[in-house]
Amino acid sequence: MVPDAGASVEGRRPEAARRWANTAGLDDEDQAALECAKWERSLPAQWPMVADLGGARSAPPAISNVCQSMGIAASPISCRTVHDMSEHAVVIAGGGPTGLMLAAELALARVDVAIVERRPNQDLAGSRAGGLHARTIELLDQRGVAERFLSQGKVMQVAGFALIPLDISDFPTRHNYGLALFQDRIERILADWVEELGVPVHRACEVTGFAEHDEGVDVALSDGRTLRARWLVGCDGGRSLVRKQAGIEFPGWEASTSCLIAEGETTDEPEWGVRRDDRGIHGVSKLEGKRVRILSTEPQVRTGDAPTMDELREALVSVYGTDFGVHGVTWLSRFTDATRQAASYRKGRVLLAGDAAHVHAPAGGQGLNLGVHDAVNLGWKLAQVVHGTAKDDLLDSYHAERHPVGARVLENTMAAMALHRGDARTKALQGAMAQLLQLDEPRRRFAGLLSGLDVHYDLGGGHPLLGRRMPDPEVETESGPQRVFALLHAARPVLLDLAGGLDLGGWAARVRRVEARYEGTWALPVVGTVAAPRAVLIRPDGYVAWVGEGTDAGLSDALTRWFGAEG
Ligand SMILES: Cc1cc2nc3c(=O)[nH]c(=O)nc-3n(C[C@H](O)[C@H](O)[C@H](O)COP(=O)(O)OP(=O)(O)OC[C@H]3O[C@@H](n4cnc5c(N)ncnc54)[C@H](O)[C@@H]3O)c2cc1C
Repeated sequence: MVPDAGASVEGRRPEAARRWANTAGLDDEDQAALECAKWERSLPAQWPMVADLGGARSAPPAISNVCQSMGIAASPISCRTVHDMSEHAVVIAGGGPTGLMLAAELALARVDVAIVERRPNQDLAGSRAGGLHARTIELLDQRGVAERFLSQGKVMQVAGFALIPLDISDFPTRHNYGLALFQDRIERILADWVEELGVPVHRACEVTGFAEHDEGVDVALSDGRTLRARWLVGCDGGRSLVRKQAGIEFPGWEASTSCLIAEGETTDEPEWGVRRDDRGIHGVSKLEGKRVRILSTEPQVRTGDAPTMDELREALVSVYGTDFGVHGVTWLSRFTDATRQAASYRKGRVLLAGDAAHVHAPAGGQGLNLGVHDAVNLGWKLAQVVHGTAKDDLLDSYHAERHPVGARVLENTMAAMALHRGDARTKALQGAMAQLLQLDEPRRRFAGLLSGLDVHYDLGGGHPLLGRRMPDPEVETESGPQRVFALLHAARPVLLDLAGGLDLGGWAARVRRVEARYEGTWALPVVGTVAAPRAVLIRPDGYVAWVGEGTDAGLSDALTRWFGAEG
């Protein structure tokens, strides 16, 4: 391992820590880092997690008092930022949406995590993904940050299959809609949150390789440093170096079509909207000001993500007979319908999430959402393994649960892309699908799939809630009405005891028991109304691990399976 002691503290300290050093009145930044590390190490394990502090930048009185007695300033968030930069429990390669979400989940679970990101900042050349589906908004709501996204985007019905709109406004969820918000904005909001949580991000820096050994993984960086981690997670996109170096196979299908995507201006008024022809779909839509977004299926399948302006003009002329005088292009890229999925999401101490684990056409706008869901499934499991409360085979459930969900997305994007072609026969099939999807049951099924609300992890038979997302009713607790999602803000497991009398025994320190009353109905998207449970064990990702139907039968098995042996 190459220690990073020689690297300048100033150079690697994010803004949040610099602010803290100033607030604490410490001139010498190295001294500040030392004090900070001392403070972090002195934290008793049962102290509140960062999430419990409500993301506050200053510590609550209880913490401040102890810090004062130690003669140091209190800021758990920034302390985490400057704590030993060369060794981490988890290193995440890639700070795109998946890497950022995973970092937040781990930080909430008090795991020492760092991100290594190739880009110097969070800017994206183009806007890429266009929004969030309902389940992603729910997951963000479970962490108390949904409003940050909702306030910047436009709530609307976004789910669709092969351009056939699917309305989910009758779905039983508070978020029975999607959110139009471009990826660059989504990433910035996630990055700000991750910064608040004190996760160090090594920017303008690439993971160039790694070596796995019994204790962990030594991760080589492009600036010559090495980070030692116990776990490495590749969130480094479709061309994932981590996946390739780990030797994880990426089987699937080669591209059958390629599309150019560009953002710029046109001299002439373009033809707005979507046009279909034998090749596939093309379209021009409005962005801010005079800017437009152009999408064009190319005459031949091409690969490589650095197309030329000539190729863009050629593609436009071949469809519209004109290039509309396209100019001022700030983003020009190519995507294909190549469809592949990692054979395994875990190999030893290396895990994959997001595009690193699966690539597919952007049909239905699912890729970013899928990556965020991977991150939320993996985060709490990895945290427990890091903390030693669960054995590392818990991580195998990450592959077991997420691989099938990814495979379904691959399948539906391939089907949608086939329907994008505009020849007479495909058009006829598209029309038939459109009619079918007007019927209630098919619409519900496809909308459940596209919105991510229908995910059902196979946790065995029993009550329909088992393995499905926990709904978000407002329950009556001792301290007043409380939304269930609010109970999940700290990313900790919750036993919602709706009949009273359940005992968590030796799990009480790890699982929060909330006694509550709820008289309303229970309804699940796609499934419909289900019998009222008497108790529900909710995993930190918001999926139901156990349903009580009057006794505690099976509760200790579920607690052991998901949260480790009784303490
Ligand atoms: C045109 C288009 C439209 C799309 N529309 C949608 C949509 O509407 N909805 C949707 O959900 N999805 C959409 N997607 C898909 C979405 O953009 C991706 O699925 C999403 O970006 C995946 O996130 P990620 O974090 O897994 O990977 P990425 O976003 O690819 O992030 C990977 C990160 O890793 C960094 N990196 C790579 N290699 C290294 C390395 N060796 N070391 C350090 N850092 C590294 C990269 O700089 C990058 O920041 C669209 C994609 C395209 C191309």
